Amino acid sequence: MNEEILVTRSSMPDFEEYCNEIKDMWDTHWLTNMGDKHKQLQEELEKRFDVPHVTLYTNGHLALENIIAAMNLPKHGEVITTPYTFASTTHAIVRNGLNPVFCDINDEDFTIDADKIERLITDKTCAIVPVHVYGNVCDVEKIQKIADKYGLKVIYDAAHAFGVTYNGESVAHFGNASMFSFHATKVFNTIEGGALCYSDDSLVQKLYDMKNFGIHGPEDVAYVGGNAKMNEFQAAMGICNLRHIDDEIEKRRIVTEHYRSRLENVSGIVLCKPQKDVKPNYGYFPVVFNEKLFGATRNDVFMALADNNINARKYFYPISNTFECFHGRYDVSETPVALHVSKRVLTLPLYADLSEEIVDKICDIILALRKK
Ligand SMILES: *Cc1c(COP(=O)(O)O)cnc(C)c1O
Repeated sequence: MNEEILVTRSSMPDFEEYCNEIKDMWDTHWLTNMGDKHKQLQEELEKRFDVPHVTLYTNGHLALENIIAAMNLPKHGEVITTPYTFASTTHAIVRNGLNPVFCDINDEDFTIDADKIERLITDKTCAIVPVHVYGNVCDVEKIQKIADKYGLKVIYDAAHAFGVTYNGESVAHFGNASMFSFHATKVFNTIEGGALCYSDDSLVQKLYDMKNFGIHGPEDVAYVGGNAKMNEFQAAMGICNLRHIDDEIEKRRIVTEHYRSRLENVSGIVLCKPQKDVKPNYGYFPVVFNEKLFGATRNDVFMALADNNINARKYFYPISNTFECFHGRYDVSETPVALHVSKRVLTLPLYADLSEEIVDKICDIILALRKK
């Protein structure tokens, strides 16, 4: 049997490097609650993202839930967002008692179609939650203009966008805040983890309260907060992985270029074009299969790869406005582009150490399905 190829493979430092990083914890016995590792990672990330404030979390989802809650949005307010994302984005809105209003995506980079946002605004609209999907940068200027005109908060789900810059500027700079996920499957990981980037000083204490039970001192509980702290083992993994992140992204670039050279200009295959003025992180390699031109469906390709022990991922399928948990609540015909793409897209295996040989094998399997 061939070696199983998964859609991703988590980046890890050398075993010795990690052991070395966690060694002093056997002296201090300080395992969590904003210890030295947490402090160091936070400072390094503030520099890297070039933002005034980074708050670290045990995962990206709780970061997103907390920042939405911290915006004090009106009860049952409407939040304009995209259905073409991971479940977390929509769930974070709904779990805050807010109503998602789904805006369609554009068919170039699959981010929210900024030209379709304004028509969705009502007197209940209070925020926009766009997603830099696959690390593709949203139309941040147009979105900010709309937000300013109507007084809306903008919170970016930047889970996919670690290391991405736009016009040389960190993608963490846009909107009121950006959420990054450091989940094992993301370009940069802390095993599980996440962060919020923002510049509003008044959010620092509030977010701290929300992630640490609102405890201000041994005898002082000032706020009804939850628990979403990043622990020291997670932070240590982040410190190690951060040392190698630029090399990892460069290796991902080489894998991506090889995929592109094989699959570009094939009839019926659509790839995301590199975005103008964007330095990407090569986090994902989404491919859209147009059956009529290509000769096989997305599901055919998925199955052919699976037969060879290669796991591609239908990412994102299904889209969140069709989830079973929302049955009957949303009209999917309002996001036709997202629906179209979700039925045809496949993200191919991509990670720093994926060999050229495997990429060739994957492309050979795909291209063998072409219309003869
Ligand atoms: C991974 C991801 C999240 C959630 O992050 P976790 O760290 O897994 O909680 C949110 N949004 C998107 C688009 C993601 O891909």
